[in-house]
Amino acid sequence: MKVLLIGGGGREHALAWKLARSPRLSDMVAAPGNPGIAAHARCIPVKDVALDELVALAKDERPDLVVVGPEAPLSLGLADRLRDHGYPVFGASAAAARLESSKAFAKDLMARHGIPTARFQTFQDAVAARRFCRELGAPLVVKADGLAAGKGVTVCRTLEEADRALALCFEARAFGDSGLTVVIEEFLEGEEASFFVVSDGAAVLPLIGAQDHKTVFDGDQGPNTGGMGAYSPAPVLDASMQERVMADIVRPTIAAMAKEGTPYTGVLYVGLMIAREGPKVIEFNCRFGDPECQAILPRLDGDLLTLLEAVATRRGLPASLAWSPRASVCVVMASAGYPGTYPTGRPITGIETATSLRDVTVFHAGTARKDGALVTAGGRVLGVQASGDDVAAAVATAYAAVERIHFDGAHYRRDIGHRALRRPARAGEGASRRVG
Ligand code: AMP
Repeated sequence: MKVLLIGGGGREHALAWKLARSPRLSDMVAAPGNPGIAAHARCIPVKDVALDELVALAKDERPDLVVVGPEAPLSLGLADRLRDHGYPVFGASAAAARLESSKAFAKDLMARHGIPTARFQTFQDAVAARRFCRELGAPLVVKADGLAAGKGVTVCRTLEEADRALALCFEARAFGDSGLTVVIEEFLEGEEASFFVVSDGAAVLPLIGAQDHKTVFDGDQGPNTGGMGAYSPAPVLDASMQERVMADIVRPTIAAMAKEGTPYTGVLYVGLMIAREGPKVIEFNCRFGDPECQAILPRLDGDLLTLLEAVATRRGLPASLAWSPRASVCVVMASAGYPGTYPTGRPITGIETATSLRDVTVFHAGTARKDGALVTAGGRVLGVQASGDDVAAAVATAYAAVERIHFDGAHYRRDIGHRALRRPARAGEGASRRVG
């Protein structure tokens, strides 16, 4: 089978790495890809949001399956365009991707179908929004409606902070037109976790859970990033919690999307708060998490290509998937200054010595080749993944590998996995079964 993979970050490197392990793969092309992906695929320098060029590329390459990694092309309608031309696509339609691209859409859908989430209201007017903040009381959360690369959400400890966040949306227009619609919701207490499922629009197959670390500094301090590390399994998502998430959240959401005429196909990322009263949705994403993807795919024992093909062609999902009981951790190495401005073009050394360690894989996120040498080319540069018998062992191996890699100004968190290390892992993961 020939695959066209869209995207060029760490998540797409993990997808390429796992797809390349399939005995059914005959050829892979990536757009735009990156130097890590180039080990598995022919990389064509077409941006993931250049829809016309991507459709033309598909016509040239005639793939048997297109796998779309990032959310931006999905929300622009890439999957719809490619399906119109007859290509099987792993990825949501633009209408279904609204679960991620419009927080107001996702919240309204959950409200209509009784899916547990934080109490909320949506506003297009600053005065009414401020009034609702006073009704709700602090702490509360202000969310710009559209895609804002994680920057549109402000957790406000005080009403003054909420006023500032609203001014940013409505007056400074920091999030453009998409920030002129704002969701205000109650602050949820609990532990966060990410849960992944795939759906062909009707049936659902649970994948597995993970936890990530969003802030840039140790101890969950500093500004939010795209994600500084992740690990799987997530102890808080034990087997009974996964069942509950499937029953209370996932199945009703997939059924609601089908009923409303926008069936959901692809991977659904459910961002959860495990509150005392049960799991609640913080957000939906229409793609794999980055870096959660780099942590979870090494645990998949089955064939990723066959799974993604089954979702894309809607010919029936496998009955179950096998997962390694071993733990997996991904530590992100970032450029100096990230998530603010950062330099690029810094030479990277030591990846071969890092990957000579057992159980280690290094995924490229923001790298480039310059005169043959590997250099930094983004904020998040590498995802250093390690497997181990438990999270502690995986963490130790990952950091041993990180220490072998060098680039000027590299920084990374030293406490990835700390929540899992504080509590014993509970049994229950290892196989997931299809439902629906
Ligand atoms: P989101 O982009 O909606 O996932 O929000 C980014 C981050 O803000 C989440 O990962 C949470 O840490 C936090 N957050 C969002 N909504 C809530 C909420 N209702 N209660 C508590 N924290 C929240």
